[in-house]
Amino acid sequence: MESFREMSKEELQAQEVEVNKKYQEFKDLDLSLNMARGKPAPDQIDHANGMLETMTDYHAKDGLDVRNYGVLDGLPEMKEIFSDLLDIPAKNIIVGGNASLNLMFDQMMRLVVFGTEGEKPWGQLEKVKFLCPAPGYDRHFMVTETLGFELITVDMTPEGPDMDQVEKLVAEDESIKGIWCVPKYSNPQGICYSDETVDRLASMKTAAKDFRIFWDNAYGVHPIFEDVKVKNILDACKEAGNDNRAYYFFSTSKITFPGAGVSIIASSDDNIAEIKKVMTAQTIGYDKINQLRHVQFFKNADGIRKHMQILADCLKPKFETVLNTLDKELAGSGLISWESPKGGYFVSVDVLPGCAKRVVELAKEAGVTLTGAGATYPYKKDPKDSNIRLAPSYPTVEELQQAMDLFCVCVKKAGIEKLLE
Ligand code: PLP
Repeated sequence: MESFREMSKEELQAQEVEVNKKYQEFKDLDLSLNMARGKPAPDQIDHANGMLETMTDYHAKDGLDVRNYGVLDGLPEMKEIFSDLLDIPAKNIIVGGNASLNLMFDQMMRLVVFGTEGEKPWGQLEKVKFLCPAPGYDRHFMVTETLGFELITVDMTPEGPDMDQVEKLVAEDESIKGIWCVPKYSNPQGICYSDETVDRLASMKTAAKDFRIFWDNAYGVHPIFEDVKVKNILDACKEAGNDNRAYYFFSTSKITFPGAGVSIIASSDDNIAEIKKVMTAQTIGYDKINQLRHVQFFKNADGIRKHMQILADCLKPKFETVLNTLDKELAGSGLISWESPKGGYFVSVDVLPGCAKRVVELAKEAGVTLTGAGATYPYKKDPKDSNIRLAPSYPTVEELQQAMDLFCVCVKKAGIEKLLE
């Protein structure tokens, strides 16, 4: 395809007439499609329905009746499954409730209120700053913004956060207390951190003694095209002598039922002891019935791995639809670039600077809701107004094809408008 950026004004104007016609045709279809959030489709969720069949045994392996009070940190057999699945010792895992985001918020609050390792609680400090690799997950940024931290954007590279930037920032400024990380099939770019990135995060010198990595491995077992191995951050921190640096989060939200799965926080022995001390006051225990349901349904870590292959088969045609349509309609156009993820839930695209909001607005007017432009950046402000997150999981392949055809028209329309300015 000829690059739009190399066209003359007259050629662009001729293209604009064509594109406007196509855009109007889409508007006339009265579409109503949503590609905004990474929700699994109903037919995907159905694969976990077996878990909702009536439970006949309410007892854990050790005889504990899960219908009653008891056990703060999770059923041993639930811990064993996560331990095997994620290669983390069971003793370093606390099984939480229905959402890992809740555990992240609670962990951040514990640092704000109580601090860690005898350092001043973050809430008593004049200023707390947090590193936010972007594009990233909007709800991470919202947690730290809500608590009044200053958010510092760090660029993403194909190997994870730009570690030159990160190392320089954390070495110089002791008010920088931590970093958000989605290490595998990141939201939204699908980037997998390289071993070097993991090692540098684990071993870098930080001015803050209580610097913390919030390691959200939300898509840790979610391959679609290729199962990528990412180095274990807890092991890397231990090797580097920074045992307490990382908190590791994971959940079954995108395995069984979003918002009704099982979550974990994992960390060093000291951190786990510190967390339990406060958690004991917070709750008698999380939902063990749901934990046992998960154990009975999957049986072991291999049960989860097999289930993830079924889910990958559901997602694959959807991701192919997005990637093939981008390729067919826009490769070489000079109007857009994108990442090809190997797993996860999203495809991230960058349109011409100054065009993302316009593309989202044009799609909305024609009946397709996309993730808001800017959502992938701290304070919802994309400095280039360029990044858009596409979430292919919810619509059917047919709906997705329509939505993507329209999306490509919107990218062309907004791009031509910008080039003609
Ligand atoms: N972390 C990331 C990176 C996500 O993309 C999501 C959901 O989209 C979550 C966490 C939410 O997880 P949970 O449902 O366990 O709170």
